Amino acid sequence: MADRKKLLLILPRNERGYWGKVSKSGKAGFVRLSLPQLAALTPEDWDVEILDSRITPVDFKKKADLVGITAFTAEIPSAYAIADGFRKNGVKVVMGGVHVSALPEEALRHADSVVAGEAEAVWRDVLDDFSKDALKPVYRAGRLIEMKGMPVPRRDLLDRKLYVSGFNTLQATRGCPFGCEFCAVTAFFGEKFRTRPVGEVIDEIQGFDTRDFFFLDDNIAGKPPYAKELFKALIPLKRTWGGQTSITIAKDDELLGLYAKSGGKYAFIGFESLSEATLKRMNKSWNSPDGYRESIRKIHSAGINIIGSFVFGFDEDDPSVFKNTFDFIMENNVDAAQFNILTPFPGTKLYDALEKEGRITDRDWAKYNTGEVVFRPVCMGPEELLRGYHWIFRNTYSIKNILKRSLRSPSGIAYRIVVNLSWRKKAHRMPRVGALNFSGAGRKAAGV
Ligand code: SF4
Repeated sequence: MADRKKLLLILPRNERGYWGKVSKSGKAGFVRLSLPQLAALTPEDWDVEILDSRITPVDFKKKADLVGITAFTAEIPSAYAIADGFRKNGVKVVMGGVHVSALPEEALRHADSVVAGEAEAVWRDVLDDFSKDALKPVYRAGRLIEMKGMPVPRRDLLDRKLYVSGFNTLQATRGCPFGCEFCAVTAFFGEKFRTRPVGEVIDEIQGFDTRDFFFLDDNIAGKPPYAKELFKALIPLKRTWGGQTSITIAKDDELLGLYAKSGGKYAFIGFESLSEATLKRMNKSWNSPDGYRESIRKIHSAGINIIGSFVFGFDEDDPSVFKNTFDFIMENNVDAAQFNILTPFPGTKLYDALEKEGRITDRDWAKYNTGEVVFRPVCMGPEELLRGYHWIFRNTYSIKNILKRSLRSPSGIAYRIVVNLSWRKKAHRMPRVGALNFSGAGRKAAGV
């Protein structure tokens, strides 16, 4: 019998920033599916191990024939260090993900092979070529994969005890037609929503060992007829879940009702900006600040909590953006909020535009964690942008403000308080900031 080969799949760590960290008890949060998915596509003559380096230190002496690494931009320095360490010991390394798909030449300084695009499309070729000692430098997925018949990710290869919550995550759709300038989803996963057959999604959920789960889809309700079919099929399962979606869900009463009835407890919604001009420029004009208030009211009435996502640093943003956004969140009782500093991730239109304008000021990829400023904003200085980001995070998660939002309705108070307290822990790692000057020092501050 031929020798079995060993594949070691590694998730690197984020060395800086506030996200993707392990808890004090040494446990990680949401499970990312790309490595368990590749493990499921690996032929049976391979032994596969998944190492989450956020929780388990990397041992470079570990026996492996091939190492596979995927990483977000902020994790890339860690990914490259891991790749270098294994290659020094003569182990071949293949890397994939959005960052290396955008910058394959950079990745090839650290890896033997790079997969550009959805790795599932070429994974068998990579493994076959490795077995023939004929790895190519770049494998380009020339097509988007068919979601029908996708294998169930190998969650059994993860150490269950090492994850706090969010262990059961899954995907029902991929792709997004909106092409927002700061996001790589459309370029990477395509501009059409691809969907898995509802029956396959339900089968996967029935195998979960928890009642609660999370859809990792970029917009679980992006294709309403599919979402309605899925939500209807979920109702008898009596589960609770969360997912990312767009505010437009509020415009379809049936969809909204089914989201709630199927156990949708919260929705992570990308508001991104309160400026019409910004939303229009980034192709998100279906998001409209005018309609936000009524939409939030409807989503709340359906019994769904909202975690809003906001981005700061667009060309139209001056320092008044922080106070305006904070007031909006408090007036509308947005249950919790994630704030991000605009970040030009390689592979996005924003990266290309800022690169062309010579406005990228920092190439340390570890700082591309949405909590640091790596470009030159237009209507405020980089320091003001950073201070404003810390200010709004700390203020949104003061005890007084958490209580004000959480008490908006008797239903679900405990859940909202628990969620907010966990965000407060992150907010409190940020520097304390005094009163901001909201007058808007404007373009002068940025020297524009
Ligand atoms: S930010 Fe959301 S809506 Fe915009 S392209 Fe990305 S996934 Fe689509």
